[in-house]
Amino acid sequence: MTESPDALIVGAGAVGLACAYELARHGANVVVLDAAPRAGTGASMTNAGLLVPSHVDPLPSWGNIRAGLASMVSREGPFQLEPYGSLAPWMARFVYHAGGERHRRAANHLRTLARQSFAMHKAYFDSGLATGYSQSGMIDIFHRRSSFERAATVQRNRTDCAVLTAAEVHDFLPACQASGAVGGVRFEQEGFCDSTSLCTALVRECESLGVRFIYGAHVTRLRQHREAVTGADTLDATYTSRHVVLAAGSWSRKIAATAGINVPLEPGTGYILDFDSVEGDPTMPVAFADHRMVVTPYPDRLRVTGMMLLTGPRPSIDHRRVGALRGEASRMIPSLMHRRPRKVQIGQRPCTPDGLPVIGPSERRTGLIMATGHGQSGIILAPITGRLVHSYIADSAPGEHAQACVPDRFSSMRTQVGTLCSSSTAAASGSRH
Ligand SMILES: Cc1cc2nc3c(=O)[nH]c(=O)nc-3n(C[C@H](O)[C@H](O)[C@H](O)COP(=O)(O)OP(=O)(O)OC[C@H]3O[C@@H](n4cnc5c(N)ncnc54)[C@H](O)[C@@H]3O)c2cc1C
Repeated sequence: MTESPDALIVGAGAVGLACAYELARHGANVVVLDAAPRAGTGASMTNAGLLVPSHVDPLPSWGNIRAGLASMVSREGPFQLEPYGSLAPWMARFVYHAGGERHRRAANHLRTLARQSFAMHKAYFDSGLATGYSQSGMIDIFHRRSSFERAATVQRNRTDCAVLTAAEVHDFLPACQASGAVGGVRFEQEGFCDSTSLCTALVRECESLGVRFIYGAHVTRLRQHREAVTGADTLDATYTSRHVVLAAGSWSRKIAATAGINVPLEPGTGYILDFDSVEGDPTMPVAFADHRMVVTPYPDRLRVTGMMLLTGPRPSIDHRRVGALRGEASRMIPSLMHRRPRKVQIGQRPCTPDGLPVIGPSERRTGLIMATGHGQSGIILAPITGRLVHSYIADSAPGEHAQACVPDRFSSMRTQVGTLCSSSTAAASGSRH
């Protein structure tokens, strides 16, 4: 044990790095530990990089449950559920939170935080961070008339998007002309970043502010003194600090458990295929709404992302799934048919059952601040998470939307789900008599 910084951050993904940056630029002395040999090797390099607050939505919804059930039997569809130990209680909470009003409230919190964070991404880029940020806009395209009409009705009154006919979609996206799109919606104010560049830029800024990174530091447990978390043990060292920020993405659950804290996180695996770019590729991100697939154009590659698989913590690449995603992408963008993916990866989204991230101090363990559970929105939400972690450490009020993300909400959730289960059991037994 060699030092005691103001904050010790576990995890150097986009979230941990944004926390380090926001703390360091306010004068804190910060140490970051990561098990990997460099920063940004978790989900933060395997994603679509979208910065689109309008699309940020809590995962638990009846639409996703229906889609999940529909593709459960297929090994190639965009969703897959494979029951394993911790999934059943997580799913019970997930279903509870899919309900209309609960989903709407969570969506409001999430989108508000995403809008604030989007502004911070822009500010990072404007201040010189080479994050690959681009306010390119984004297009959703639809191949089913019913889903297009639904989306068009919802979006028609908004001033920041335009509903497109099939012909207009083809004008914007000649690469998708043969895909049979029936219409689209174009969002003008949003964009994307290159999450690998974002991580590299944040590391550079942090280092210039004196943040110390320790790689190959696999945290085995959080250190405790009475009710307080006071540091972390790695395989070969001990680090102490008054504030320990747990930002280890999908791995946070296991680490939090060493301090007796239950964070119901499950990894939602996604697939990423990178192709060489060619002329005529889309110039802005495209979401193929009916196929739950996204294409993001980077200067040197076209990235296809898709799938949400709740199949356990240690997935490996399934080549049938790669083939399915590649086949779907080639039907949407026929020029992909002749390109082989130059890189295939999987990434794990750290998913909570209520669809909100877990940000803030633990009431049960002083000294522990959680910054995890960002699910499908960790890239867009990274800067605001860093700002919130800084406000908690600086003792300033985080605001209503951040309150919805506090870690201890899960203890009351257990009661709610318990009540739900016992009332349905009571109703069921009532109906038998
Ligand atoms: C297919 C796909 C598409 C996505 N698209 C988008 C998108 O368009 N927009 C968006 O905003 N988000 C998107 N996401 C989600 C986003 O990528 C994640 O929410 C985000 O990367 C999570 O960041 P993180 O820093 O919390 O976790 P990670 O990036 O996973 O980082 C966790 C870090 O913790 C370290 N670690 C783990 N265990 C230990 C340990 N024991 N000791 C020390 N270190 C440890 C790991 O090495 C890793 O560096 C997508 C994700 C996927 C998979």
